[in-house]
Amino acid sequence: MMGQLPEQQNELFYDFCLENHIPDGHLLRQIDQFLDFEQIRLHLTSFYSHTGRPSIDPELMIRMLLVGYCYGIRSERRLCEEIHFNLAYRWFCRIGLEEEVPDHSTFSKNRHGRFRDADLLRMVFDTVVQRCSEQGLIKGEGFATDASYIRADASKQRLVDGPVDWRPSPTQTRPVKEYLDVLDEDPAARRTQKKVSLTDPMAQWAGDKGPGQFYYSTNYLIDIEHNVILDVEPTPAYRIAEVNSTKLMLERVEERFAYKPSRLIGDTAYGSASMLEWLVKDKGIAPHIPVMDKSAGKPELFGRSNFTWEADNDRYRCPGGNYLQRFWRHYTKPRTGITKANTIIYKSTKRHCDRCELKSVCCPNVPHRKIARSIYETSRDVARDISKTVEYQQSCNDRKKVEVLFAHLKRILNFDRLRLRGITGAGDEFLMAATIQNLKKLAQLRFKPPDNRIITPA
Ligand code: SF4
Repeated sequence: MMGQLPEQQNELFYDFCLENHIPDGHLLRQIDQFLDFEQIRLHLTSFYSHTGRPSIDPELMIRMLLVGYCYGIRSERRLCEEIHFNLAYRWFCRIGLEEEVPDHSTFSKNRHGRFRDADLLRMVFDTVVQRCSEQGLIKGEGFATDASYIRADASKQRLVDGPVDWRPSPTQTRPVKEYLDVLDEDPAARRTQKKVSLTDPMAQWAGDKGPGQFYYSTNYLIDIEHNVILDVEPTPAYRIAEVNSTKLMLERVEERFAYKPSRLIGDTAYGSASMLEWLVKDKGIAPHIPVMDKSAGKPELFGRSNFTWEADNDRYRCPGGNYLQRFWRHYTKPRTGITKANTIIYKSTKRHCDRCELKSVCCPNVPHRKIARSIYETSRDVARDISKTVEYQQSCNDRKKVEVLFAHLKRILNFDRLRLRGITGAGDEFLMAATIQNLKKLAQLRFKPPDNRIITPA
């Protein structure tokens, strides 16, 4: 006999417990085990008034945002709808079946108000990193760093050729004000921009990753033991900002979590002379980073490796048995010979090179040979020596761990374009995405099903 769907008839009373309908293996249940809002509540107390109508609990807002970043729901309007319909989302956000889901406009109000004043999202991220540390997921021996481009919410229709004369205006948007504030506070942040977005001027135009777009970079510093993200920092998408952000993140992780690695792994972008000097001399960290070297020259001619450095005599010995020195005469007024690029030029003499049989493979088109040596060359040599070790080969493999996290961010978490504008908007989004990645790592490696669950009706 064919069954028939009964007419819809609502029950008068339900005996329904939300807790019983979320399986132990559900991702949100696993993540929930590692969330602790006690510290955050204490921190936020001073940002809320003791009188007036109670505001929406920030824990609820954070839980809702975590659901959105966990399942790649990028629109806050859609997120509120999804939470309304989905039992597991309701359970995670502690919203009972009969309760109203907050309106999507609440996010915007809180984000630009108390959340930023209290640096709430940074605190949530740090709390999760601390949890990773307590669970033994951080070894602190080797860190890896890298950056990935994320498209800014800036249309090409609002692109103009730089520089732009920004005049104070009452109609100035928040990202523009934020950009001008950054320039006022830190003149070093000024950069030459050939193309500027009038919507989000802090975003950087880049055309080397396909069709030209405006981008921000998300910079990760990870512990290579279990790929836990220790810190994340937003920057405009250009190399110098990315390298500086790594310095900032290393300092911050040391200050907040007392972790200082013995080695840092990175790609060639981090192999500038000044960065290597900072790592080796200032921090005592071994740079497992390829040296950025633009002095290779033509392969058929002698390279720098054919010249022997004699540190005691401050000179190079060339394959022809002669020397390259910084000065070949005495100056009455002493000179350092250091150029604006922080290099010292070592030169042979025309007299020696003219007589040399090797001139055709050394300096065929110039009177004599020159070698530019960085004032940080000793640190570059440390990195070169490390690059010949077996440990370095392992580090080259470990470097891919950051790229795996970026692939997860873009493909699984659906995070390939920012929704918020300005550098602080980018920072908020990067922090939430990194928080979810760490929570998923905790759930994957440390989740234990609760054996004494207390069942209460929703
Ligand atoms: S050409 Fe000059 S620098 Fe080169 S090997 Fe001969 S003497 Fe030395």
